[in-house]
Amino acid sequence: MALTVLNPATEEPIAELEQAGVEDTDEAVARAKAAYPAWRAVAPGDRGRILRRLATLVEENVEELARIESRNVGKPIAGARGEIGMVAQVFHFYAGAVDKHNGETIPVAGGVAATFREPLGVVGLIVPWNFPANIASWKLGPALACGNTVVLKPAELTPLSAIRIGELALDAGIPEGVVNILVGKGSVVGQRLIEHPDVAKIAFTGSTEVGRRVMQGAAGTIKRVTLELGGKSANVVFEDADLEKAAAAAPYSVFDNAGQDCCARSRVLVQRSVYDRFLDLLVDATRGVKVGDPEDEATEMGPLVSAQHRETVASFVEGEPVFRGDVPGGPGFWYPCTLVEATNEDRVAREEVFGPVAAVIPFDDEADAIRISNDTPYGLSGSIWTRDGARALRVARATDAGVLSVNANTSVRVQTPFGGFKQSGFGRELGMHALEGYSEVKSVFISTEG
Ligand code: NAD
Repeated sequence: MALTVLNPATEEPIAELEQAGVEDTDEAVARAKAAYPAWRAVAPGDRGRILRRLATLVEENVEELARIESRNVGKPIAGARGEIGMVAQVFHFYAGAVDKHNGETIPVAGGVAATFREPLGVVGLIVPWNFPANIASWKLGPALACGNTVVLKPAELTPLSAIRIGELALDAGIPEGVVNILVGKGSVVGQRLIEHPDVAKIAFTGSTEVGRRVMQGAAGTIKRVTLELGGKSANVVFEDADLEKAAAAAPYSVFDNAGQDCCARSRVLVQRSVYDRFLDLLVDATRGVKVGDPEDEATEMGPLVSAQHRETVASFVEGEPVFRGDVPGGPGFWYPCTLVEATNEDRVAREEVFGPVAAVIPFDDEADAIRISNDTPYGLSGSIWTRDGARALRVARATDAGVLSVNANTSVRVQTPFGGFKQSGFGRELGMHALEGYSEVKSVFISTEG
């Protein structure tokens, strides 16, 4: 069945694509398997050189790729350019990293053991719709650098940038069969990849619900799995913080990408002594978020990805929010920036909304802040705002989350490990850590006895 891809800002079709089925998936896995021996035999430094050409091609085509991403996801064009810039950086990073990811020699009784980092084989990459190119690159970069071949399944709603990156990979000199892009349903292509006996690993980013299915399905063939799942992160604002700075930054930690961000700090925890003052500042700052046409250079927030997703997001807002912003009239899956006052027991504070809705929650003291922050099944990200350096470190150490920032909102850097605690998943992407997830350690003992 054909797949119609929409522009969420106009609701107009922008592409009509054939969807792969189970047989196409098997063929793609067979192509990847056939390409594997030659690709793994390429010396790491040479794989690095080819990846660097891909990075350069992404840089040369940044405007085209950013327009594709903006039209397909509804992302503001300025932000989309930044995301594609990161795709290039990711390929540059792994181009340079691969020949530094080496084994060790370990002297032992009777000889020496050498360790090697061997590739896994064919890796299935399953990615979501919120950062399609970015998240694809976080997996493609280290997977290819380590010598694996891949079958990449983009999300049904947003397959266009992955298709273009696949073409650029060929232009860069990555041999046929090493990178296979398959557009199709999660329940068909994704499920087949999970169960396929010739797929050695699934690298999955998506919801915790589907992540659970990936783990179950992978059990049949003892596949390696890394899971980057949902989040319900806290933005913790202490009374000694620079409140103006924290309030000015807070909207962008939850309304960026229209809140469709696994790292969204969708729980804003504020110390009771400064609660009213901070809430006023937060409302003012949220009023300033520029919502509108993603192709406008000044736009900061676009629409949600689909009509169905808008319904889900809307279902979280009960009663009168403390602030609700404006959205453009006419077509497009718009949803306004929304602030609600809540307790940590309310549904809006417990479940991932994945839209521009923030729950503002008071806390009493440091221990209360840590308790509320950790009172969630998730553990992906978060921020701590305080001028007390010792407190910042204490709270960071006590927070069950994989990626934290102090007096800042950011979660993602090319050089640093990214991933979750608890039901936000396991395994790390980005930085040198990601290479661990795409290679297996082998130990070879060499006897020195005569
Ligand atoms: P999703 O779980 O619905 O889909 C993710 C991918 O899995 C898609 O490609 C989909 O087609 C595929 N899929 C669906 N059912 C499948 C099945 N049965 N077998 C195999 N594959 C299947 O997630 P989504 O709605 O695309 O993305 C939003 C979710 O992703 C949110 O929960 C968000 O938090 C999470 N996310 C996490 C991170 C992270 O790094 N932790 C980053 C971005 C998004």
